[in-house]
Amino acid sequence: MKITDVVCHILQSKVEKPFVSARGWVYSTRASCVVEISTDEGITGWGECYGPAAVAKSIVDTQFKPRVIGKDPFDVEVIWEDLYNRIKDYGLSGMTISAISGIDIALWDICGRALNKPVHKLIGGAYRTEVIPYATGLYFIDMNRLTEEAVEEALEFKADGFRAIKMKIGLGDLKLDAARVGAVRKAIGPDIKLAVDANHCFSVPNAIKLGRMMEEHDLLWFEEPISPEDRDGYIEVSRALDMAVAGGENEFTRWGFRDIVARKAMDIVQPDLCAAGGFSECRKIAALASAFGVECVPHAWGSAIGLAATVQFLAALPDQPPAFRPMPPMLEFEQTPNPLRDHLATVPIALRNGVVPVPGGPGLGIEIDRSVLLKYKVA
Ligand code: CA
Repeated sequence: MKITDVVCHILQSKVEKPFVSARGWVYSTRASCVVEISTDEGITGWGECYGPAAVAKSIVDTQFKPRVIGKDPFDVEVIWEDLYNRIKDYGLSGMTISAISGIDIALWDICGRALNKPVHKLIGGAYRTEVIPYATGLYFIDMNRLTEEAVEEALEFKADGFRAIKMKIGLGDLKLDAARVGAVRKAIGPDIKLAVDANHCFSVPNAIKLGRMMEEHDLLWFEEPISPEDRDGYIEVSRALDMAVAGGENEFTRWGFRDIVARKAMDIVQPDLCAAGGFSECRKIAALASAFGVECVPHAWGSAIGLAATVQFLAALPDQPPAFRPMPPMLEFEQTPNPLRDHLATVPIALRNGVVPVPGGPGLGIEIDRSVLLKYKVA
């Protein structure tokens, strides 16, 4: 089999109720760079790149596409290494790796479709047939009702059947953050797991101070307490707090994660399939984490393609550590309005009785609805 074409589609949709995280970015549109790879056997694979879609498209179109055409999609890791070596002099991390990720995911999709097997059967097998999702939400929308709106949204997630929720924090007032987390914990009760995500807005002392203030609320993890470049800072925060510290959504490749993992700067690393290097690289990152006793729980933020890839990856990720009653790695199931996540697949990845069944169809296990693709395609 030979690759005959690589096409990047930029999809974009408007967000009706714009929302804000601790970084202060207003999310008023959702966009995605979707990669479609065709072959001479009529099999098409789909991938997705994290980050600014036009940048990803430009890198794929100008740097990678000519190197990929004519190759055998089953040489997926050979292709990965070739693309990385092509770009690393000026792109060791960041958008260049996101661009490789989209290609890698599409190639694994093709391999699965060619063999009529879901990707998780090709990368180790099914440790599980369903994954437990956590709802990501509780952003800042109405600045006058920050606590009330968080409580209301958390209760909606609980009513939907979610067993775990991740809320945004980082309001510039540690007491307000702690009180808001406390209000959500009180509302959802002790049995729903609760994580917090600061989108790296705190200094080391404030992260430690807030972590201690939140400790009584039984948190699953404290995500991105501080800026990702400050690895020594992560070590300080992780050692100071009893709760787990997570991060890594903005880290790339096995080399990017190597020192974080080896120094145990975080308790949980969160590579994104669509950013850190696709299936090929995230498997290596997970193996690295396992060797150092660090958990790997992928980050996910994107369209149905990125979500499906994450579900396939999680299906093949061992319990960390194995146990009679394990705590399996959870799926980040982001819940802000996004038609690209909900409608791009003919059968969407969905919550059923508190879990997300792992699709058993070939490749990523989803089929792309081309009418939806065209509806949101802007380039
Ligand atoms: Ca995050």
